[in-house]
Amino acid sequence: MTVVTETSTPVSETAPDATPSAPPAPTHPLALATVTAPPTSVDGFVREFLRELNFGQGVSLQASTVNDQYLALARTVRHYLMARWSETLRRQRETQSKGVAYLSAEYLLGRQLGNALLATDLTEIVADGLSQCGIELADLRAQEVEPGLGNGGLGRLAACFIDSLATMSVPCIGYGIRYEYGIFRQTFVEGRQVEQPDSWLALGAPWEFPHPENARRISFGGSVADHTDDDGVVRRRWTPAWDVNALPYNYMVPGYRNGRVNTLRLWRAQATDAFDLKIFNSGDYEEAVRAQTFAENISKVLYPEDSTPQGKELRLQQQYFFVAASIGDFIDQQLPEDFDLAQLPERIIFQLNDTHPVIGVPELMRVLVDEKRLEWGAAWEITKKCFAYTCHTLLPEALEVWSVDLLGRLLPRHLEIIYRINEEFLAEVRERFGDDELRIRRMSIIAEHPERSVRMAYLATVAGAKVNGVAELHSQLLRDKVLPDFHEFYPGKFTNVTNGITPRRFVRLANPSLSELITDTIGVGWLTDLERLRGLEPFAEDEEFRARFRAVKAGNKRRLDAVLRERDGVGVHDDHLLDVMVKRLHEYKRQSLKLLHIVTTYDKIVSGEVDVADVTPRTVIFGAKAAPGYKMAKEIIHLINAVGETVNNDPRVQDRLKVIFPPNYNVTLAEKVIPAADLSEQISLAGKEASGTGNMKFALNGALTIGTDDGANVEIRQLVGDDNFFLFGMLEPEVEDLQTRGYVPSSFYEADADLRRAIDLIASGAFSGGDRATFEPVVSNLLYEDRFMVLADYAAYIEAQAAVDAAYADTERWTRAAILNVARSGFFSSDRSMRDYIDRIWATPPSF
Ligand SMILES: *Cc1c(COP(=O)(O)O)cnc(C)c1O
Repeated sequence: MTVVTETSTPVSETAPDATPSAPPAPTHPLALATVTAPPTSVDGFVREFLRELNFGQGVSLQASTVNDQYLALARTVRHYLMARWSETLRRQRETQSKGVAYLSAEYLLGRQLGNALLATDLTEIVADGLSQCGIELADLRAQEVEPGLGNGGLGRLAACFIDSLATMSVPCIGYGIRYEYGIFRQTFVEGRQVEQPDSWLALGAPWEFPHPENARRISFGGSVADHTDDDGVVRRRWTPAWDVNALPYNYMVPGYRNGRVNTLRLWRAQATDAFDLKIFNSGDYEEAVRAQTFAENISKVLYPEDSTPQGKELRLQQQYFFVAASIGDFIDQQLPEDFDLAQLPERIIFQLNDTHPVIGVPELMRVLVDEKRLEWGAAWEITKKCFAYTCHTLLPEALEVWSVDLLGRLLPRHLEIIYRINEEFLAEVRERFGDDELRIRRMSIIAEHPERSVRMAYLATVAGAKVNGVAELHSQLLRDKVLPDFHEFYPGKFTNVTNGITPRRFVRLANPSLSELITDTIGVGWLTDLERLRGLEPFAEDEEFRARFRAVKAGNKRRLDAVLRERDGVGVHDDHLLDVMVKRLHEYKRQSLKLLHIVTTYDKIVSGEVDVADVTPRTVIFGAKAAPGYKMAKEIIHLINAVGETVNNDPRVQDRLKVIFPPNYNVTLAEKVIPAADLSEQISLAGKEASGTGNMKFALNGALTIGTDDGANVEIRQLVGDDNFFLFGMLEPEVEDLQTRGYVPSSFYEADADLRRAIDLIASGAFSGGDRATFEPVVSNLLYEDRFMVLADYAAYIEAQAAVDAAYADTERWTRAAILNVARSGFFSSDRSMRDYIDRIWATPPSF
């Protein structure tokens, strides 16, 4: 690694080629006409498509592969969005109205083509045109590899939010990282998870627009010293040790049929010229290549940990890399040249999606104080108004901390800035509460134990104009349990915004037949005003409507059956209750509780305690990736697969209980599974799931929830009504209480014969060819640790599942409840979430 010398350009400044060009922009009378207008005829589309195929892909229609056709189609469709994109950007430059910069380390976007066609209303024209060419649109849509640039809920939330902001015509730029490898592709080998690299870029990336001319240089390491500037003022000067280039890749974020296209800007790391050249010149070719790899590692791979961050140096590099590039980009590229930075809060709010981008706080301070030469106090006043922080967790192990040692080594100037922020903050605390040392220690941004480290959530809370939780219960626990001292200190700072999901992707695209039924029944308009689904309520009493609603569900089950047969060679019975648990594998989410229900049902069948003919036919679908380093989660995956193998092949079960676990759960699979589901499993231990968004997707697609009183389940149940929701399990205060009294899982095992039999069956080796060692870690974890109280909620869960069976037997009653779930879940549109952010946090004028 080379050292940046004194003579090299100050690396913290914009790369020279990124300076806005001074000469007047070139123009031509035909300039506007070169922007392709959307076709109004099938012929017009076919001409464009063939042109892309012939001249873009360089193949004839006859010789083209499905991938050629997909790429040509994607490029054709993006042409149609181009005029809207340019116009959006032009208007934004002109009005300079306040906007949102959404900072997120993850965006779990899902496939782009279907959404782009929906936004532009071109699906029909394109399908017709392609079929004239002998091509099925569905085949080309299936060719797209989804960009899996996120782990799960948090990344998918970011994708839903930017969709809603575009649809609501709110100026927003999403900033993140263009990982070369997204979330791993999950495969199973003998029932165990094996991770494969996700080469999502391998077959071409038609949706991205690289802008290397807007590259920014991002610095790391080195030291800080005093120096006297030209005005005789003593300042701190950071002399970094190394740097990388950040190359922006732009993606279109089309609003739904409103002519707006916002931007998602993802950064890719590339070695800087200075970095390679010197080593090259020294003749050490291998070292030069190694150094380049080192720099480019920063955006190489998404960390596959969900809810349990690893304090790895590369991860901090990723965080600073994208946040520094984004803040610099906003200030230098999106603002007019003569902009008065004191007005920054009138122009932008940086929304921090969890703590991953919080290093942006000291970065903005550094830019304002060191580069723009503002006074510290003035800079802090600006910074405090420019950030807002969304907390996504309640698990203490998920709260990010960075060791002072690591942070100081990688970002020495930022550590100084954090220290000063903390000093001034603690002085304020002292002023209010006196020398309450315990309180000071509790509230300090710097933790002393187990090692000196920076608590990123505290930094975000001190700096943020607002702090929000993601569901009512979560926000309340955040105030009362996670950050109580901060709530006392800043009572007005805390607020709630319940998460939401975009109905464009998760209803309209994922469930076209339900969408058609809805539009037939209540007319258009619901897709951008989801509360209109209330209009369906009276139809719950309409027998003919219920029959149509059931036909939609049955059709979706057949569609899923076809998808899974093609994908994994397993099908789903369309006369089974389809019971679905899809989400990341985590002990707090309690996939093992669902598993115990399956084992109990199986045990009762094979022991003859129940007549198999009396068992409600069920297919249970799991979908879940485990973080590669999360041992217990991987053991649970293995156990699910082993139980499935045994149950599915036992003739005594007579196919009335099926367990299927398609590998590689992602957005694409979610779009097929969720619309087919009858039952949604949302069974986390109360007080552990911040919100959940999967729960919302299911309710809006007409599945009934079996769930604990946790996260947004609470609000779902309040809205859909107790009769249409299967509630079970301890409430959060009961969990707290049991914890305090001392939870002994084995006492639940001793006291409940069914539970004992289920656990004993697993322990006996019944699912591992008689080998008792295989699942011993899972068994002893449940019996002697059970951090998330699976055993304590077992009996209530089994009882609730019996209630599910009984309710499902009454088809008309079940359908009525399913319809009411759809009709009453409009609140969970991410459009509503965005409205709440605007009203409660961004305080942006309606000029949006
Ligand atoms: C919605 C979604 C999630 C989040 O699911 P939860 O049940 O809320 O944890 C995770 N992964 C994918 C692919 C999703 O679409």
